Amino acid sequence: MGAIAITGAGSGIGAATRARLQRAGKRVLGVDIRGAEIAADLGKASGRAHAAREIVSASNGELQGLVVCAGIGPSSESSPLIVSVNCFGAVALLDRLFEDLKAASPSAAVAISSNSATTVPSIPEELVSAMLEGDEGNSRWVAESVHPTLAYAASKLALARAVRSRAPAWAEAGVRLNAVAPGAVRTPLLEQGLDDAELGPLIRAVPIPLGEFGRPEQIAAVVDFLLSDDASFLVGTIVFADGGTDALVRPDRF
Ligand code: NAD
Repeated sequence: MGAIAITGAGSGIGAATRARLQRAGKRVLGVDIRGAEIAADLGKASGRAHAAREIVSASNGELQGLVVCAGIGPSSESSPLIVSVNCFGAVALLDRLFEDLKAASPSAAVAISSNSATTVPSIPEELVSAMLEGDEGNSRWVAESVHPTLAYAASKLALARAVRSRAPAWAEAGVRLNAVAPGAVRTPLLEQGLDDAELGPLIRAVPIPLGEFGRPEQIAAVVDFLLSDDASFLVGTIVFADGGTDALVRPDRF
């Protein structure tokens, strides 16, 4: 049976995705800095290389799916670390595993972006460009002078654009690449933000038309769909799973 690798499988959305796929009988390879069978720090190049090697070895040439979900939130105090984990930790793993996904095609990959990429104002374009140029050292240097909330949104915007720019060529190779942009979802990452004196009130002020925060299981359902044959014509799509916030904030941006 083909394997599906999930980063960030130890908690929150990644753990809910893992549980859902396993309930459906799928073989899941969990990757996380803690709490998963493949232990790797995706904030570091060496950790990404280790994770990729372990995934390739454990999937026996049958890597049918990849979900890059590991991330740290805007309440993290280090903007450079946010950039390294959320953008480089995701994009590097996608790129490293592309050939293996292609070998197992038809296959699919899903990145977890965020609706902060479209709803947070004044995202520094210089930081987004630095990330998309692939220079991690320079991106971290630019991020030093950026507030973590903006670094978080920039990391998720760069990730979404990295997905969009790769998806057409990947589709030609038989690998569908898409992304989910969740809004606020009840996980340890969100709880940390809510507990933060500066960030908590900002998160609570974001309007959610459905009236409540999401649950990790609601995002897992979207990831499962994007990986499945039911999504066999979806390529380069960013699915907003945010209770309506993006539609409310920018109804004409389409
Ligand atoms: P979470 O904290 O519950 O899970 C994140 C996981 O990533 C944890 O298991 C953590 O150990 C792992 N991780 C963190 N740094 C890592 C590193 N350096 N190397 C390897 N693993 C690492 O949070 P979550 O809310 O489930 O977040 C999952 C993804 O969803 C993140 O990318 C996050 O940015 C995104 N997201 C979350 C929300 C939300 O409101 N919860 C909203 C939009 C997007």
